[in-house]
Amino acid sequence: MSAALLEVRDVVRSFGGVRAVDGASLDVEAGSITSLIGPNGAGKSTLFNIVSGFLRAEAGTIAFEGRRIDRLPPHRIAQAGLGLVPEGRQIFPTLTVEENLIATAASRFATPRWTLDAIYDFFPQLAGRRQHMGNELSGGEQQMLAIGRALMTNPKLLILDEATEGLAPMLRLDIWRCLARLKDEGQAILIVDKHLSALVKLADRHIIIEKG
Ligand code: ADP
Ligand code: MG
Repeated sequence: MSAALLEVRDVVRSFGGVRAVDGASLDVEAGSITSLIGPNGAGKSTLFNIVSGFLRAEAGTIAFEGRRIDRLPPHRIAQAGLGLVPEGRQIFPTLTVEENLIATAASRFATPRWTLDAIYDFFPQLAGRRQHMGNELSGGEQQMLAIGRALMTNPKLLILDEATEGLAPMLRLDIWRCLARLKDEGQAILIVDKHLSALVKLADRHIIIEKG
């Protein structure tokens, strides 16, 4: 049997003696949508930041396509094919939409799925705003930009941390529609979101995390 796309094993991370992530393990299969469900403070964002290389685990291993990534810096993990849409969007506020997108542009493929044109085709609202600064966008547009920026790395696995947080219901619906289209294309996704009814429609598998 071939390895899962992402394999997280027994990952531990503490802050000031408190275990935020306490022996977490999960698999994400290629082409599948996996949700991570748990209450506030359960350690979901900490785990995503560890997987993406922004935080170090104290123990445990992480493999991507069968290769260890838990000692790699974030840019090498992104190059390996893991794209994070972080909690709170974290777009560059004083760069334009286009500069935000170009900032992460990378591809291991001769004919990448995601180019600037492909992003503007997928998110038509961004096309009309390509010269606007990040901080001039609405919340929904900022979220599309955050997703677009992650897609520009042409990720094999897209990780979304609360991507619909703080958006009006109509705008949330736009994001869910985009994610459903990515699913139809076979994009593998690992997602945390508070809107469980939409999440259960999208995801193939759910993993529960309680206290790390
Ligand atoms: P979730 O994303 O599931 O809401 P987090 O991963 O953000 O949870 O947080 C898990 C726990 O770790 C919480 O108790 C939080 O207060 C703590 N924590 C997260 N990041 C830090 C940090 N940088 N410093 C100290 N404590 C932190
Ligand atoms: Mg979180």
